[in-house]
Amino acid sequence: MSGLNETHDPALRSWVESANGATTDFPIQNLPFGVISPNGVEDDRIAVAIGDSVLDLRACFRAGLLDGLAGDKSHAVFEARTLNGLMAQQPDVWSALRLCLSRGLREGATQQARLSPHLLAMNDIALKLPSRIGDFTDFYCSIEHATNGGKMSRPDNPLMPNFTSLPVGYNGRASSIVVSEVGIVRPRGQFSKDGKIVFGPTEMLDFELEVGAFIGAGNPQFRAIPLSEAPEHFFGICLLNDWSSRDVQSWEYQPLGPFLSKGFATTISGWVITQEALAPFRVPARPRDKEHGEALEYLRDANNDARGGLGLRLEVRLHSENMRQNAQPPEVITATGFDSMFWTIPQMITHHSSNGCPMRPGDLLGSGTVSQYGEKAQGCLSEITWRGTNPIQLENGETRAYLLDGDEVVMTGYCTAPGARRIGLGVCSGRVLASLPK
Ligand code: CA
Repeated sequence: MSGLNETHDPALRSWVESANGATTDFPIQNLPFGVISPNGVEDDRIAVAIGDSVLDLRACFRAGLLDGLAGDKSHAVFEARTLNGLMAQQPDVWSALRLCLSRGLREGATQQARLSPHLLAMNDIALKLPSRIGDFTDFYCSIEHATNGGKMSRPDNPLMPNFTSLPVGYNGRASSIVVSEVGIVRPRGQFSKDGKIVFGPTEMLDFELEVGAFIGAGNPQFRAIPLSEAPEHFFGICLLNDWSSRDVQSWEYQPLGPFLSKGFATTISGWVITQEALAPFRVPARPRDKEHGEALEYLRDANNDARGGLGLRLEVRLHSENMRQNAQPPEVITATGFDSMFWTIPQMITHHSSNGCPMRPGDLLGSGTVSQYGEKAQGCLSEITWRGTNPIQLENGETRAYLLDGDEVVMTGYCTAPGARRIGLGVCSGRVLASLPK
């Protein structure tokens, strides 16, 4: 995992003035990568966010401003329509590009005049999916979430015995992943209602607040990624909303796990925060309680213990149709932290590849719902409302057990640490649209 270097210096300022504001998610210390389409109609190309602007990296490459940064892979990296080419490189390439961008975007940089023509306003671009996601796996790494979920169905024995032994996961549906702001049509499915099994629009639509991790360079099939090398295979993170139909899920999940209750849509934020940008916010992995014993050897190493966790705060806001009509702002319904996850991102990568499963650049891993104990610190409505039995009271008088049509779910996240510049993850939002006619 990368250490600190000059790109993390909290005193750095950018000649892009909006990057110097105290509340921006994208100061010069962040430099997240994404895929944009200028005006929403031009070709997709890779870009980096800086304040409320984006720098078109394909245009910079064509102008000769990124020469030599990816050697003979430069064309594959900078002319690509997705970030897969960049993700497939080794961390030294990612690092060299970050340093070049940091130096070029700094206040007083001699490259300002050559870079500024390739800067676009964030409002003038459409953000696209960052990578061509070949495979999507969703994990289940919060012990608070697993315990709460278990309590609802097995009050005496909430935590399954495998939870502390391995990061539980399932293979998701990559084709259903969308970028922030794409509308989510309420899915239809099969579920139990009034003692009968029916098929219709889900009546228990939920969100799940998660963190997504993009794989960098992959591994050959049948060759596992050891935990000591897992950080080298981890490109960066985004916010992830694993939309879920709870009524469909509870009918379909046994014995093979979730299927159509999850595979209709997953929303991710469009900017990928690199592992190097996250270096100041690394924290120790959550210590295991005595009763959990040690992890098996392949899931244990000193670097992971010391730096495997991430000091990331996460929030969910709800913006209902009613709030929008009355010009009311979205209301915070969850504020929680990623530092208490039981399993770390490198442990997910290592476990996933431990049977020889090949991971490929741009593959996406979901962390599982991020929950902590305490009021409004859970990452899904099912937990917050205890399966709908204790609805949320919103400030405008509305209540919610599950999501209604017109509800917009807005997820944000940010990292802070002493001596580091705050960085944010941008926004992961999606609005629920009425079910389509049969
Ligand atoms: Ca999930």
